Amino acid sequence: MLPFKLVYSDGYYLPIGQHVFPAEKYRRIRDRLLAGGVAEARDILQPEPATDQDILLVHKPEYVKKLKTGTLSPREEMELEVPYSRDLVEAFWLSAGGSILAARHALSDGLAINIGGGFHHAFPDHGEGFCMIHDVAVAIRRLQRDDKIRTAMTVDCDVHQGNGTAAIFAGTRTASEPLPSVATSTLNTRAAETETKMRGAHAGDVFTISLHQHNNYPQYKPRSSIDVDLPDGIGDEDYLAWLDNALSSGLRQFEPDLLCYIAGADPYREDQLGGLSLSIEGLKKRDELVFRVARARDIPVMVTYAGGYARNVEDTVTIHCNTVIAAKEVFASKS
Ligand SMILES: [Zn+2]
Repeated sequence: MLPFKLVYSDGYYLPIGQHVFPAEKYRRIRDRLLAGGVAEARDILQPEPATDQDILLVHKPEYVKKLKTGTLSPREEMELEVPYSRDLVEAFWLSAGGSILAARHALSDGLAINIGGGFHHAFPDHGEGFCMIHDVAVAIRRLQRDDKIRTAMTVDCDVHQGNGTAAIFAGTRTASEPLPSVATSTLNTRAAETETKMRGAHAGDVFTISLHQHNNYPQYKPRSSIDVDLPDGIGDEDYLAWLDNALSSGLRQFEPDLLCYIAGADPYREDQLGGLSLSIEGLKKRDELVFRVARARDIPVMVTYAGGYARNVEDTVTIHCNTVIAAKEVFASKS
């Protein structure tokens, strides 16, 4: 039995037909975890859909109404990049419910994983980049409303910048001092020294960190509290050094009651929509780093999965399953 809960529903399947987004990955991850003995059926909780009231904690009433009545404009539907349907709306409400449930269990168990969610490109008034509803933001706002947490930190390791997250939690910001850069000894390529940019400013109750490929969607990147703009082709060692640096910098500035880790599988070198060069092993080390840092500071962690478009969908499934294995290794050991 796992020392934490997984949250999953067959309803996470996104009815989008033939698409670069492998909508069946959620079920495959669940099946592989059970078949391999990593998890047992009793480790898995079934979520309820979020209520409209929950969704409205983040999203504008006009947008929610359009989704519920099927009245998005053709342009809005195009921006979403997945075909609108009522079933799709239900899948997104369910994902948000799953993230709320995972966040609650993270507070009681130290960690919980939603085998879904991480729809970080959704904005209050529109969806884009396959993301209709920002499940992570909905979970944070719901737990704040219930007085379960005051503050939260998002750590977004999807290859694409968390533009929706940055916009939702922007608040009023003043530019902070330039952030310290990674010691050059930890970097092994000149390119990374000269091209990676870490920038940041923060105000508000949610601190947002995004590590992403600079030359990739979204073209316009609203400011996160910390953005690490990585150059194309960066590998395991440099990536891990920048992540370590961003986490230490963030946690020096901010003490979150909950850490929401967005564990995208798309920094993988075989990804069709990503241009970084992490290995499967490097991605597991990434997960371990986030979990170790959070555990050492007693910060509860809620995990969501976000993107993953490996040429071979089995690799995406492996990377996501490894996140559970990494959590098991870090959280099973006595502190
Ligand atoms: Zn992505």
